[in-house]
Amino acid sequence: MKFVGAHVSASGGVENAPLNAKKIAARAFALFTKNQRQWVAKPLTDESISRFKSNLERVGIAPEHVLPHDSYLINLGHPEEEPLQKSRNAFLDELQRCEQLGLKLLNFHPGSHLKKISEDESLKIVSESINWALEKTSDVVAVIENTSGQGSNLGYRFEHLAAIIEGVEDKSRVGVCLDTCHTFTAGYDLRSTELCEATFSEFEKVVGFKYLRGMHLNGSKTEFGSRVDRHHSLTQGHLGLDLFRFIMNDDRFNNIPMVLETIDETIWPEEIEMLYSFIE
Ligand SMILES: [Zn+2]
Ligand SMILES: [Zn+2]
Repeated sequence: MKFVGAHVSASGGVENAPLNAKKIAARAFALFTKNQRQWVAKPLTDESISRFKSNLERVGIAPEHVLPHDSYLINLGHPEEEPLQKSRNAFLDELQRCEQLGLKLLNFHPGSHLKKISEDESLKIVSESINWALEKTSDVVAVIENTSGQGSNLGYRFEHLAAIIEGVEDKSRVGVCLDTCHTFTAGYDLRSTELCEATFSEFEKVVGFKYLRGMHLNGSKTEFGSRVDRHHSLTQGHLGLDLFRFIMNDDRFNNIPMVLETIDETIWPEEIEMLYSFIE
């Protein structure tokens, strides 16, 4: 089965996110469990936690189909000790929030070398950061998102994801999330069924579908291989719909949260409906 939804608002409290998902007929969703542009946040209250859990149950979405996204400030591959520790502490806090909410996944961007160390060195630091944080928590899976490779961001090659996984000690608690816009702008073509076959078999070869724990379904405002990350609605931009038809009919994408981060949230219900209509 396919579980499609969107990155919904949690404003007013995390407990509102499941209700916002229900409003757009989502069967999965993403959320920020704290303000994504701030380092520190107030702890979740017991009331907020229990209302989140009861709302989730009420709307009939399984915890496995919720894909929280961490703060944009966190850089687990930071070349300098002090900011690296700040990032690790914030990442741990994000994992603990997920655990409190009974959630199983945490989606994050791998990090940036900031042109101060090599990609390989920075990738090693990312793995060490994940090990450090997983040791202090019990069951949330660290889900690495691939990126467009803007600036000095890591994660634009499948090999980067594989290298990070390689360095993680507990392989049962690491996974990946492929963002369709990031994949395409990073230089993996997806504009036809044949090109999707090729790109996803490359992914299977380098990383492996057994690590795929989520998808971000986005169109792209920028061109193939641009290394610039600008999402678009599904029916607009440079990607085309063949990719989304492909995904909705391929069993390798079953039973994982697939989340829209498209730019016009007023059409999310239509986008979700369209995706389900692609199933043959
Ligand atoms: Zn992301
Ligand atoms: Zn994304």
